[in-house]
Amino acid sequence: MKAGLKKKIVKEIKVDVDKCTGCRSCELACSAFHAAPRYSSMNPSRSRIRVIMDEVRDVYVPIRAGEYTQAECNGRNIYTIAGKEYSECTFCPASCPSRDYFKEPDSGLPLKCDMCESVPPLPEPMCVQACEFDALTYEEREEEYEEEELKRDEMEIAFESLIKKYGLKQVLQTASRLSKR
Ligand code: SF4
Ligand code: SF4
Repeated sequence: MKAGLKKKIVKEIKVDVDKCTGCRSCELACSAFHAAPRYSSMNPSRSRIRVIMDEVRDVYVPIRAGEYTQAECNGRNIYTIAGKEYSECTFCPASCPSRDYFKEPDSGLPLKCDMCESVPPLPEPMCVQACEFDALTYEEREEEYEEEELKRDEMEIAFESLIKKYGLKQVLQTASRLSKR
């Protein structure tokens, strides 16, 4: 391994839509695992995985919640598959102001798949465990990364959250004040 390179575990859930029956057990399992207290309720609207029906191809498509977007995307198009029109939103994993998907129904806060991180760790994420049809399979693989790359990522994430909270101007003013100390 090259100097400066480190290894990390990348976790993935693969989806085989041909095996999905639309039973929605994954939605129930996810919502139960994330209920407070844990397993105290099951409510698909709180799930970080939702199963969408693709009527054109006659398949169910499980979609996991991804990043939160503060604004609706402006590249949104309608596209046509086999003569039927779809909004790009249909299969998008984002929680976004333009729709209610992947939002906590009581607070409106965005939901995001956290791969069921817990202590002690689960052998497999709950949605995968709940899927009796092998439509969801869990994989872990090792990947090399530059140590510097990770530091940069962490810093960008920290800055982004500060800017969201206090605004760019205030963050820059604070950084300038601190640099003069
Ligand atoms: S991995 Fe966990 S958090 Fe993510 S969708 Fe599956 S059950 Fe929900
Ligand atoms: S549990 Fe499996 S088969 Fe059932 S809806 Fe979810 S992904 Fe599809």
